[in-house]
Amino acid sequence: MIIVLKKNITEVQQEHIRSFLVGKGYTVKEIIGEEETVFGAVGQSSLDLREVELLEGVTKVIPISKPYKLASRELKKEDTIVTVGKVKIGGNRVAIIAGPCAVESQKQIMEIAQAVRDAGAVMLRGGAFKPRTSPYAFQGMGEEGLKYLKEAGEKYGLPITSEIVNPGDVDMMAKYIDMFQIGARNMQNFELLKAVGKTGMPVMLKRGLSATIEEWLMAAEYLMASGTDQIVLCERGIRTYERATRNTLDCSAIPVIQKMTHLPIIGDPSHATGIRDMVSPMALALVASGSSGLMVEVHNHPELALSDGPQSLYPSQFEKLMRDLHALCPVVGKSLERIPLSLPSVKKGDAKGKKASSLTVAFQGERGAFSEIAIRRSFDESATTLPCKQFGDIFEALMQGEATYGMIPLENTLGGTIFDTLDLLDRYPDIQVVGEQQIRIVHNLITLPGAKLEDIRKVYSHPQGLAQCVDYLRGELSHAEAIPFFDTAGAVNFVKTSNDKTLAAIAGSPAALAHDMEILAEGIESNPRNYTRFYIICNEEMAQAFRSISPVNRASLRFTVQDRPGSLFEALFVLTKHGLNMKKLESRPIPGKPWEYSFFVETELGQAEGSFEHALDELKSCCASVRVLGTYTAGI
Ligand code: PEP
Ligand code: MN
Repeated sequence: MIIVLKKNITEVQQEHIRSFLVGKGYTVKEIIGEEETVFGAVGQSSLDLREVELLEGVTKVIPISKPYKLASRELKKEDTIVTVGKVKIGGNRVAIIAGPCAVESQKQIMEIAQAVRDAGAVMLRGGAFKPRTSPYAFQGMGEEGLKYLKEAGEKYGLPITSEIVNPGDVDMMAKYIDMFQIGARNMQNFELLKAVGKTGMPVMLKRGLSATIEEWLMAAEYLMASGTDQIVLCERGIRTYERATRNTLDCSAIPVIQKMTHLPIIGDPSHATGIRDMVSPMALALVASGSSGLMVEVHNHPELALSDGPQSLYPSQFEKLMRDLHALCPVVGKSLERIPLSLPSVKKGDAKGKKASSLTVAFQGERGAFSEIAIRRSFDESATTLPCKQFGDIFEALMQGEATYGMIPLENTLGGTIFDTLDLLDRYPDIQVVGEQQIRIVHNLITLPGAKLEDIRKVYSHPQGLAQCVDYLRGELSHAEAIPFFDTAGAVNFVKTSNDKTLAAIAGSPAALAHDMEILAEGIESNPRNYTRFYIICNEEMAQAFRSISPVNRASLRFTVQDRPGSLFEALFVLTKHGLNMKKLESRPIPGKPWEYSFFVETELGQAEGSFEHALDELKSCCASVRVLGTYTAGI
């Protein structure tokens, strides 16, 4: 049952409810949601729910209709985000786990770990105990294999996962691995589930060869009832009559599961297909279906692999898959989890004595704005977001120590460069660019609940939002007047407070959610290939700490040139000479110097060691001024 607690409940009352339930034989879990705090109570006793309803501090009691209780969405509405070391799995992230089917030697796992890490995997896999169909096939290296796996994971900064097949190995394996894997053949090995669940450690639970979704969730329930809520489900294909592939990948299980449970689900295209050439297309299909990650088998010499060679990708194929995923993720509203970064913690206080209490990220607009969506893709759920009225306020918040990072839009694929933010970067020499994020912009028509399309008279949104939905505004909404507003999410709030069902706003879906409003029409933008690219900015001190742990492949520069023939050409030629691929060029007027311009350039850092540094030295000698706005990792 779900016990919804009163907002002002006291600790004593909570404790009383808990001990009452425990006394009746229930296991009680506290779930703190955004809206409300609930207790989830599961047990075998048949208690009259009214007895619980009468306890002090209880708002209501709702029975859970599904046989899987702790795993059900009924109990917990928000997505569970599973934490494995520094890696998070769940929500809108796509976390890639890669590695060989089995650890075969120290050299083999080291080489593969480096290859998959370099391509962008965030976790390393490798079996040490292999449940093989034949007793004569390679059974894995056992504990020795786990030692090598751990060594490789530590060397390359990747948390590790490995399959457990025997309940007696739990304590031994827990010393090495970061996440248990329970394989398809053991999904209903209930003693194993109980033993692993008791550790409280993260577990990846694969779908059984012929398990229904409900049976699979019941297996997850075993893990949860025994003590862990850190469970990642993994679809790996099921046994059907079709023999062309090793198994039949059930992509539809992904959206089905997401409705039924709050637990994250990832996909394994390797065991699903069993055929190397089919792994990448199915990997993309899994992500397009909403999967929060993938587990992919990669081998440096698949032809020599001791198990599952035919389905293991070559490192070069894996790298190509990662590039395809970079392109796909923003299209389906996801972002690829990057190599785990422990983001530098906040600066403690400042001259004015204000301080950011946790990792705080400032953005322009109101809650639910596209910038806030970008923040959620880049940072941990626990990061606090700080809404600002103007772009300039973000820079001020950073200078005053009220925010650790800022998220600023730089350009949109339809609207072009956002000059306000570009110029602010010039005005604040202490602020640096340390990262980038791209999101797809999907617009929605948002109204008060119960509003009807034909009654809408006025539509509010940011001018860019209105411009991007021009076909819809001229078509289905031609009877309404389009009115520019300072921000998309702000427009939603405005419509909400007006309490007028003839008004509507155009904004992203999180804005509707944040303000409890209704989405009357989804995806109303004229061009679906609509992306906005953001910069992550911070102060100098934080930038240094950030770069020391984050690989960089791109730089943003601002420079001015002398007023003589060929000066811009000379500056750009420096980039060519050092093999730096220029990605963006803008010219901007210099304030106070009519008809003079400064140039903004984004460039790749080049292959050769030190090429960027050499180019920078040369630029300094041929330009009137040069400033590096930042170096960072660019997505695509
Ligand atoms: C594996 O991941 O190596 C494995 C054996 O997978 P499954 O349990 O899905 O067959
Ligand atoms: Mn395998």
